[in-house]
Amino acid sequence: MPPDLKKSLSYRLSGQLLLAALALGLLLAAGQIAVERQQIRQAIHDDGERLLALFEAAVTHAVSRHRRDLADDVAMHLLNHPGVLLARVRDGHAIVLAERTRAETPGHPLLGANQRFTLRLSDPALPHEPTGDLELILGSAYRSGEFLASASLSLASHLAGALLLGLTLLLLGQRLLTRPLTQLLEHLARIEPERAGEQQLPRLKGHEQDEIGRWVERTNQLLAAIARQQSQRREAENTLQRMSQFDQLTGLPNRQLLQRQLERLLHEASRRQERLAVVCLGLDGFTALNERYGYQIGDRLLVSVADRLRHLDSQLGSLARLGGDQFALVQIAFEHSYQAADLAQQVLDALAQPLQIEQHAIGLPATAGIALFPDDGDSGERLLQRAEQTMSLAKQGARQRYQFFIASLDREIRRRRQLEQDLRQAVHNEQLELYYQPQVESPGHVCVGVEALLRWRHPQLGFVPPDQFIPLAEQNELILEIGDWVLERACRQLRDWHQQGLAGLRMAVNLSTSQLRSDRLPRQVAGLLQRYGLPAYSLELEVTETGLMTDVAGAAQQLHSLRRSKVLLAIDDFGTGYSSLNYLKTLPLHKIKIDRSFIRELPHNEDDATIVRTIIQLAHNLNMQVLAEGVESVEQEAYLLAHGCRESQGYLHCRPLPAFEVTQYLLTATRRQPTSLTQPI
Ligand code: C2E
Ligand code: MG
Ligand code: MG
Repeated sequence: MPPDLKKSLSYRLSGQLLLAALALGLLLAAGQIAVERQQIRQAIHDDGERLLALFEAAVTHAVSRHRRDLADDVAMHLLNHPGVLLARVRDGHAIVLAERTRAETPGHPLLGANQRFTLRLSDPALPHEPTGDLELILGSAYRSGEFLASASLSLASHLAGALLLGLTLLLLGQRLLTRPLTQLLEHLARIEPERAGEQQLPRLKGHEQDEIGRWVERTNQLLAAIARQQSQRREAENTLQRMSQFDQLTGLPNRQLLQRQLERLLHEASRRQERLAVVCLGLDGFTALNERYGYQIGDRLLVSVADRLRHLDSQLGSLARLGGDQFALVQIAFEHSYQAADLAQQVLDALAQPLQIEQHAIGLPATAGIALFPDDGDSGERLLQRAEQTMSLAKQGARQRYQFFIASLDREIRRRRQLEQDLRQAVHNEQLELYYQPQVESPGHVCVGVEALLRWRHPQLGFVPPDQFIPLAEQNELILEIGDWVLERACRQLRDWHQQGLAGLRMAVNLSTSQLRSDRLPRQVAGLLQRYGLPAYSLELEVTETGLMTDVAGAAQQLHSLRRSKVLLAIDDFGTGYSSLNYLKTLPLHKIKIDRSFIRELPHNEDDATIVRTIIQLAHNLNMQVLAEGVESVEQEAYLLAHGCRESQGYLHCRPLPAFEVTQYLLTATRRQPTSLTQPI
């Protein structure tokens, strides 16, 4: 018997039914045997009655004649019967006339006690007078064989019936329960839990209407429900997956996905010994565009950038949006690094083509940083990081170009980072200092003002030039804190000088782009003038062309509010940025400061001389003052004066100096030219 059968439902069911049938069979058999026993006992009884009737005449004759011999004959004949155990003949006085016995046997255990029969004898003439009796004892053993045979038959037939019933039930159970359930179980076992919903259980023939059919139907409904839920879950998972891997706006892979793709591409590249380039692309001035045209147009611009990048005809292994206005491209399977430069240039050119969005044609200048595998790193993270660093570094220089990562740049980045950290401390640890450079009016060399120039005395590096740390501070909000400090110190110093008798002295303070954008600047300036009791015209704020150009409209608004507090406004380093004559006209500027790069080779350099003359002319035409920076020689001063630029600043007059040294300089100058410094300019 297979072990599974033993555990099967039909086996257990039919086993129990068989036991019940056996018990019932035994009960019925017992009942039948009891009836048969009764019948046998009845038959014995009938035998007794028959024997008495058979020998009644003979024994009556023997007793009435008192013939012992005849009575003994009767007893002997009776004993011939196999069941007779005792035959006794007695007369009317109970005197035994004859008696024959067989060995006394007790009653048969199954058929019960022996049966005693007595026949009262009487004379026909005197029927009420007993003349004697014939007594018989019949044992039951002589019919026991017959009884046992019939009882065994009954028992056997009932047991066989029960067994047959059990077997039939087993087969029926097998057919109706075990087989269909096993079939369903096998189907269920084949259903993979992950794809449970894709399969159904078969409808078993003959079981369509019964419990199994209904069970199958219900299970199939459940499986279908699971299928629906699984597909909904898969859909949700897919959406989540997409959301976590792709940029929602452009549909490009995001940084995480890019990093995974990059690792795979790097693995391929190193296996094939090929090169790979990570190009990190940052749009220039995107924040200003956003502010100018609104975020909706900004978003559309980003989508268009993504489209343009998608259509680039080069071996792009991957393309992603890193966030904000930054994208990354991975170039694969190329031979020379200049091919990466070609790609970067191709990208920059593609973006520079104006995009038509609504009525605006917007060009998107961008800057790219490139890191190469294997030269610049062998992990995706490192390459991406270096490409990004290179890009942001390139952005600080002339933008709209690409730049390769090189080890020295890396060192530069580390140095800058360290410097940035140190700079945070510098403000609080009083490492910052203001130097002042006199501004002189010719002819006569009258000192009309000073420019406050920031110095950082680094505990290890010594003096760090402002050209190095100011752009750093401008990248984070640190410049605002520093700018506040400079304004405060410069105003305080100017107050001291005014109190020392240099009443007409003017202080020029450089403003950073972030300061210029800060809403609180006009209030801050007005507050300082008031606190230190300074006339507004004694403070000159210098703004750079780049500071103005990043957001002309915002800057114009800010300058107008500054102008209301009557401070002077100068444009610094004029000629180095994207000059536009248009804004010069519209902005409330007082003074143009010609950048020292145009003065350096003056008057020999024809080009510079032409530029300088043009700027001076421009200032005069716009009714603005003009000052030349970086004047180092008498020749330069003379040339400038000859062409109408009277104010100058440079090593010719004085280098930037700490306050106390400038005080000496100023007081000496005052003694030389007492009037000029006391008159307002
Ligand atoms: P700037 O405002 O154009 O300042 C003039 C720069 O020219 C100063 O450099 C000064 O030392 C230098 N200079 C003056 N005369 C001569 C000369 O005859 N020959 C040469 N070769 N150079 C001369 P410095 O002090 O290194 O400052 C560099 C720049 O850093 C400044 O240019 C200004 O843009 C910025 N800066 C300085 N102080 C501050 C400040 O407090 N705030 C802000 N935002 N920027 C500042
Ligand atoms: Mg300046
Ligand atoms: Mg300058």
